[in-house]
Amino acid sequence: MSARGPRCERRAMITRGDLVHLRRCVTLAGDALAAGDEPFGSVLVSATGVVLAEDRNRVAGGDHTRHPEFALARWAAEHVPAAERGACTVYTSGEHCPMCSAAHAWVGLGRIVYAVSSAQLTGWLREWGVPEPPVAALPVRDVAPGVVAEGPADELVEEMRALHRRCQLGG
Ligand SMILES: [Zn+2]
Repeated sequence: MSARGPRCERRAMITRGDLVHLRRCVTLAGDALAAGDEPFGSVLVSATGVVLAEDRNRVAGGDHTRHPEFALARWAAEHVPAAERGACTVYTSGEHCPMCSAAHAWVGLGRIVYAVSSAQLTGWLREWGVPEPPVAALPVRDVAPGVVAEGPADELVEEMRALHRRCQLGG
């Protein structure tokens, strides 16, 4: 892993099976938006490909720590034996924020696969004139260097951009 540079292309590692789970994340993100929340959704999958848990963003009530990746990390800490967590994958519509990257690493979960990167989302929000969030959009690798994080999934980027655009600008 030491040879992996900051701009190394990880896209080739996303498989057809990964895309199935990522599409579910996009659906959950759409559900969140339909429920008046921000469009983020995530799925926790076991080593054998079984979906263990899923969640969507739930910050609309005012608690901005209620990201799905954070919820799944805490769910894993409670329900998945420590020895099995490293073989689990977390799929998510948007790359983990620093809070969720830290939670993911602290509970010892494995690979992350995301549909859109934090850099992509940050670029869109700037383009749309959205005020900067209070937390820096550091990539997973800067917060949890031992975690393999792969993405974006080009097939899903436009759909996610449209969801975020609708969330920020309406329409
Ligand atoms: Zn987060």
